[in-house]
Amino acid sequence: MSNIPEILTQSSFSNSNLVQLLECEGEDKHLLYEAARTTRELYVGNKVYFRGLIEFSNICAKDCYYCGIRRSNDAVHRYNLTDNEILDAARFADQNQFGSVVLQSGENNSPAFAKRISSLVAEIKRISNHRLGITLSVGEQSEEVYRQWHEAGAHRYLLRIETTNPALYSKIHPQDSLHDFYHRLDCLHALRGMGYQTGTGVMIGLPFQTMGDLAADLLFFQQFGIDMVGMGPYLEHSQTPLYEFRNELLPLQKRFELSLKMISTLRLLMKDINIVAATALQAIDPLGREKGIKAGANIIMPNITPGIYRNDYLLYENKPCIDEEPSQCKGCLEARVALADGEIGFGEWGDSIHFKNRKNSQSDL
Ligand code: SAH
Ligand code: SF4
Repeated sequence: MSNIPEILTQSSFSNSNLVQLLECEGEDKHLLYEAARTTRELYVGNKVYFRGLIEFSNICAKDCYYCGIRRSNDAVHRYNLTDNEILDAARFADQNQFGSVVLQSGENNSPAFAKRISSLVAEIKRISNHRLGITLSVGEQSEEVYRQWHEAGAHRYLLRIETTNPALYSKIHPQDSLHDFYHRLDCLHALRGMGYQTGTGVMIGLPFQTMGDLAADLLFFQQFGIDMVGMGPYLEHSQTPLYEFRNELLPLQKRFELSLKMISTLRLLMKDINIVAATALQAIDPLGREKGIKAGANIIMPNITPGIYRNDYLLYENKPCIDEEPSQCKGCLEARVALADGEIGFGEWGDSIHFKNRKNSQSDL
């Protein structure tokens, strides 16, 4: 007989409990989704918050083996939005009450880039009258640079650890100092120490990845005390080295379900954090993000990059919405969130409750 109903009543979970949850099927799977949904409603409510995603440049110094915009992919047409294009996208987010924007790009460690981000952050704050919350997702940087951006007004940072198994990390990245697992981990600690709401995540269904790895990823999020998690299925891209292992991957539908189970299991483990229903879910299933919300996520990142650039920010293939303009995305998402029984927190930052609780308990010390 299945012991999933019993595991679902526990208040703490071992790696083997988590593996059982990630492997459950049929009725058990629905029990898991339901438990996660109930937990979400109890601890963070049924509101879904938008983060308008601005993919402002696909120029990247790194060469991650899974990513379509890696430095060595010569087939990519490289772009870099102008400051005005970025600010226009932020205005769109503000006018449509998205509450927050995420600035994301390939990695660039030049002083000019650092300076540019600082002034863009300050300018977005100014033009939105401080209404827009700002998340950055521009990779590994020095502490000094992270501090400058925080002081300029960025208050959240997303840096996926990709996998918490160092051996697996080294299989999916080149072996050099630019792609060092422990450096990425240090960056996460630095961000957290500096007062950012800190977000991380992993790819699900990578070649060579085991269920035990994914369970360990979840326990890592908990031990680290992360505030936000964005994780989604790994999707192969034909112009990358990992494509060679495409026949060893779980079928797409299985990767999708495993991603939903990761969301639900994490919600049980970390009840008050923000969890993103990743866009990559929608690359597999047209209702992917809604299903992510039903499985316990509470954040959606609508793409508000100007339409003409979207075809060039292909981290993976079959990316959804690449032929749409931002205004089309909004209407579509509103209907979709309603379908998933959620309500959109228009004009609200929707900060991580975990972050607030963490801050309060620190000030109690
Ligand atoms: N350069 C920054 C931000 C852009 S990449 C960084 O790497 O942190 C954002 C995320 O896209 C990465 O963290 C990775 O998890 C995800 N990604 C890249 N290639 C992918 C693929 N083939 N399938 C699924 N997700 C992918
Ligand atoms: Fe660059 Fe990020 Fe892609 Fe790695 S995952 S190649 S750092 S854009």
